[in-house]
Amino acid sequence: MDDCIFCKIIAGEIPAETLYEDEQVLAFSDIAPQAPVHFLVIPKKHIEGPAAITEDDDRLLGKMMRVARDIARAKGIGDGYRSLLNNGEKAGQVVFHLHMHILGGKEKPWPI
Ligand code: 5GP
Ligand code: ZN
Repeated sequence: MDDCIFCKIIAGEIPAETLYEDEQVLAFSDIAPQAPVHFLVIPKKHIEGPAAITEDDDRLLGKMMRVARDIARAKGIGDGYRSLLNNGEKAGQVVFHLHMHILGGKEKPWPI
């Protein structure tokens, strides 16, 4: 997607602090952290958001969860982190490339 900021990060056109990368998944620190630890896990394939997934993505979503867990452990928050996916503007989605937020390092690192 030409105007997708996360596709540009995947392509290396915009710098990001990469935490993990393989053929399917990329993880990087959020540019505006909402908790002491805040990173994003995204598929390399452009998917608009959680509502746009298909059955073909079942394994991909599971992998994102596992990658998130491994990074959380490595960052010392394996025993307390929050995973969050926003779908749609009404829910606060700003970047329309599926991404899983992982937040941790303080108590209840999200207002719900
Ligand atoms: P959303 O509100 O769409 O669920 O979350 C988008 C997230 O992407 C926000 O937390 C925002 O700080 C992060 N973000 C937006 N642009 C960039 C960027 O260029 N680099 C990085 N590392 N994070 C970004
Ligand atoms: Zn994209």
